[in-house]
Formats: sequence, C-alpha cells, structure tokens
Amino acid sequence: MGLKLSRWRATRELRVGQRDSGGPERLLDGSVVLTRLEAAVNWARKYSFFLYPFVTACCGMEFMSVAGPRYDVDRFGAALPRFSPRQADLLMVVGTISHKQAPILVKVYNQMAEPKWVLAFGVCAVSGGFYDNYSVVQGIDTLIPVDVYVPGCPPRPEMVLDGLLQLQQKVKEERWSDWPRGQAPVSRC
Ligand code: SF4
Repeated sequence: MGLKLSRWRATRELRVGQRDSGGPERLLDGSVVLTRLEAAVNWARKYSFFLYPFVTACCGMEFMSVAGPRYDVDRFGAALPRFSPRQADLLMVVGTISHKQAPILVKVYNQMAEPKWVLAFGVCAVSGGFYDNYSVVQGIDTLIPVDVYVPGCPPRPEMVLDGLLQLQQKVKEERWSDWPRGQAPVSRC
C-alpha cells in the first residue's frame, strides 16, 4: 500500500513538473496562445448563438421563462432572439407543428445562413407528442435536421439549459467540413 502511494506521488510530481516546465506557450512567455483556428472559431460560435424562436403552442410559456432573468440564457451567450431567420443561427422549434405550418418552418430553416443549428423544444416538436393524428407532424426531424432534442411537456427550463449546453459541446467539436448541410427539401412537407 505504502509503495503504491509513493509511486502515485512520484508520478503525480513528475506530471506537475512536466506541466510547469511548460510547452511552447511558456517559451514564448505567455505572449501568445497556441490553438487551432477551427477550435478558436468554434469557441466563439458556441458562446454567441442568435436564437430564432419558432413558437407555436403552450411550450412558448416555458420559452419565456427560459429567456427571462431567472434562468438567464445570457449566461450561455444566447440572449438575443432574432425574428429574421437571416440574422439567426439557432432555430428553436417551440411547440406543436401542424402539417399546415410545416412549409413555413422549412422555409425559415432554409433562409438561415449556415452554419445553423436546430433545437427541438418539447415533446410535440420532438415526436408529435400525444397528438398522434393526421394533422400534426410526428417529429420535426422528418422535415429538417435536428441537433438537440429536449423532451418534456413542457420541458423544465433546466432541461432546456441542459440542451443548450449539449449544443455548445456539439459546436465545440464540429469540423468545418460538416458545413454546408444544404437546403431541407420542401416537398417532404
Ligand atoms: S409539448 Fe406539451 S406544452 Fe409543449 S406544445 Fe406540446 S402539448 Fe404544449
């Protein structure tokens, strides 16, 4: 046990020593930061979402709660809703989507500039929810690509924030080659 502990301590000290001896950044005396351009751009993107809230039903109340000061999406750099798709990069589909609304949703998605992301907010957007009938779209991923699904009827604000964090993680790991995704087909509506 004692031998194991001393070995662990020795390894740890070695690691700390290696860290302290520094890499190229330390050689350059902290005057530069070395990273990949892709990582730097992704870092900026994940903290500067511009939301387009596509709000159709009762989940809208929960969206208002998320956007208000109590839950404060500003902490995640996602504070400013945009009501023009051309100025937005995060489409939040909040509520039930009927087949009549489907072409409008696809048009809004297609008008957004790439890169863009989609968050399905609530079980209606995720899967049609309990509206298992002819008039409701059974999940918006049958129309447009979805990056994060937030279930719940309605989802608690904490779940939406968790979805936002997951989206940030996804954006952080994205490659530039993932874009452009291209237009969603209108004919599927
Ligand atoms: S998930 Fe529930 S709260 Fe949200 S739009 Fe559907 S029925 Fe309304």
